[in-house]
Amino acid sequence: MEVAAPSGERLLLDAGRPLDAPREATGLLPATVDTSRPANVIFSHPHMDHWGLIDELPGEWPIWSGEKSAELMRLTTELFGGRIDRDIRTWHSRSAPFAIGGFTITPFLTDHSAFDAYMLLIEGWGRKLLYTGDFRTHGRKAVLVERMMERPPQGIDALMMEGTNLRSGKPVITEKELEDQFVELARDTPGHVFVQWSAQNIDRTVTLYRAAKRSGRTLVVDLYGADVLERVADGTGIPRPGKEFDLLQVVITPCGKRMYERQGREDFVTRMATGGAGTSRRKLSDGRAIIMLRDSMVADFAKDGLGFSADDAYAFSNWSGYLDTADPRSGWAQAERAGARTVRLHTSGHASPEALAAFAAAMAPKTVLPVHGTAWDDPGIPLPPVTRLADGEAWTIP
Ligand SMILES: [Zn+2]
Ligand SMILES: [Zn+2]
Repeated sequence: MEVAAPSGERLLLDAGRPLDAPREATGLLPATVDTSRPANVIFSHPHMDHWGLIDELPGEWPIWSGEKSAELMRLTTELFGGRIDRDIRTWHSRSAPFAIGGFTITPFLTDHSAFDAYMLLIEGWGRKLLYTGDFRTHGRKAVLVERMMERPPQGIDALMMEGTNLRSGKPVITEKELEDQFVELARDTPGHVFVQWSAQNIDRTVTLYRAAKRSGRTLVVDLYGADVLERVADGTGIPRPGKEFDLLQVVITPCGKRMYERQGREDFVTRMATGGAGTSRRKLSDGRAIIMLRDSMVADFAKDGLGFSADDAYAFSNWSGYLDTADPRSGWAQAERAGARTVRLHTSGHASPEALAAFAAAMAPKTVLPVHGTAWDDPGIPLPPVTRLADGEAWTIP
């Protein structure tokens, strides 16, 4: 989305890469974005479909994001062998207003499956816009949205709101309820509980850490999972490898090691291996833990004693669109072949339709501008007046 002021100053809110675009595809920045004039770009949160076009933005355009978001964007890029060479300007407070030219921006830390996600209040020239980015009200940081709904910014002209879950019919449970389900699964499983989840979904990592604690297990992540936690944990209560969180372990495998050696980060591997949290497939082979598992790790685990057995469980804790149970190479199919129990335990990173309606009502904007989501023609929930804009269509706040 582009916000333009009468002065000609421009803000771009997010520049995302379509999730289905091949990794090597370029030239994805919409032609409606005029790259010949200056602009500032703000990334609301570190999900690819919000920042993935960073390399296509003119080098002289300043880029802004939350501090930890910037860290996660760098980590993701480095993982694929790249590097973000440009400067990312970050706001230091998670709620204090700052200026970009004549615009005043107030970031509101929010509840989403991505870490360090923000809503952005944009003020200037007597107008007020609130961009929700992606959000929900059933995660571990729901209180942030609740507080905002109790004391909403006054006089919002336009609310740019996501609507991913409109008409999806998806059941939405809280992370706390999900935690209870994982505890139950752990109690019913004699062997390991292997879980496929996104290492950058820190809410889920916390859910699993707490479930491990409640069921007398350890939570085991791989080097990448440990890397993510190390980069964001400072100043938060989030578990990270080290004495303070003795139930968190890091499994070191030849594959994981190679990935970090390629990035020239042998020191990180050594630190993880010797810092007390390090463990191995062999050591884990006869224990009872909750273990992070991506499809690409299954064969590597099995090579040294950590294959699936009929005593184990495999939980898929990700968006169902990422799971093809018929694919014989999937963790799911391999677990089934070994006789392990397979379950889906997940909750959405996005607000339910009811939560969207309640949020829009609390913000009481003059109009809602839909972003994200496909069911806006017939959203099925009560909303303030909606202004539909086609891609590239300009609209002036009255
Ligand atoms: Zn999104
Ligand atoms: Zn998102």
